[in-house]
Amino acid sequence: MNFITIDKNDWAAGIDQLKKTYLVFGPVQDENGCQIKPLAPDVQPEMGAPATVMSPKSVLFPQTEKILTATLDESSKDHHIMKPVDKNDTPRAVLGIRPYDAKAVQLVKLNFDNPDYKDPYWCDAYDITTFVGVGVNRPGPCDFSTSAGCGPFSEQGLDVLMADLDDRYLAKVLTPKGEAWAAACGFDTPADTAESQTLFDILQKEAEKQINTAISTDNLAQKTILDLYEAPFWDDVAFSCINCGTCTFVCPTCWCFDIQDETKHQTAVRFRNWDSCMSPLFTHHASGHNPRESKIHRVRQRFMHKLKYFLDKYDQGIMCVGCGRCVASCPVNIDIREVCNLMNDYQKDK
Ligand code: SF4
Ligand code: SF4
Repeated sequence: MNFITIDKNDWAAGIDQLKKTYLVFGPVQDENGCQIKPLAPDVQPEMGAPATVMSPKSVLFPQTEKILTATLDESSKDHHIMKPVDKNDTPRAVLGIRPYDAKAVQLVKLNFDNPDYKDPYWCDAYDITTFVGVGVNRPGPCDFSTSAGCGPFSEQGLDVLMADLDDRYLAKVLTPKGEAWAAACGFDTPADTAESQTLFDILQKEAEKQINTAISTDNLAQKTILDLYEAPFWDDVAFSCINCGTCTFVCPTCWCFDIQDETKHQTAVRFRNWDSCMSPLFTHHASGHNPRESKIHRVRQRFMHKLKYFLDKYDQGIMCVGCGRCVASCPVNIDIREVCNLMNDYQKDK
């Protein structure tokens, strides 16, 4: 780990240099708000932009991804045999990612990259990606990341953590991927380690003081799944849900997907698409049976997965980093902070 200082007057030239060897993603504003997207050659990341509407999970897990293809031309020796599609394996750098979104990648990794299962598409994308985060000096009103195992200056999942000091960035280079990123940009002005760390500590405390909303999770591990599953509050929680799926699509830790085959002329393509546990179709069996047939089943599943099943399975905290996107985006104001506290405080009548 080392610190470097980057004069903002040198930043754009460094990013232009980076684009010669990396596919560079960063925050940009468009008609849909701020998003992290691949940057065109003449576009610079808007590093001071507000929190992105969607999380950057699509860098590793695209909303729609071609995974296999086959020819249907029976004159071809290998007709109907699915084969991997060519992938762009250029190294990627994600600039301006918020610390809670980088922590979310580590939670998703538990699902896609573990001893029992390695998802080749997600793992390949992860291996070539460098995450360059910026500490959040002014957390938003829905940010509860400090009580969700994270925080505005968390280093978890980051290769570089930068602090915005108005006229310069102070960058804490955390991994070999981060070192390679700094070298590719030509950022090499060292900063004093002790002074820099003190500055990071001050900024972190200042930022954390501004977060005035929190969840309690201390009791979740001791609750039984059955008690929480049968708790009487699910009807009320689910009452106003319209199953739009917004909460799952904006969430950096939601990973549900669906596989779909499409054919056109003599070509077949297998796609992986985002799906949502909030949709009735997600669990609709070919037989017609649906184990989550009503919205109370689906709403309960979302919260039980994030706040109980994940916690029990991995013992790595909850499957939520407190970004607050689902709170801000839900059209009927269903709030995971309230549901988490209901679950945490629930006592079954004896
Ligand atoms: S965003 Fe709100 S209304 Fe839409 S599915 Fe999620 S909880 Fe339900
Ligand atoms: S559940 Fe809501 S607050 Fe938690 S990580 Fe997902 S979008 Fe963010």
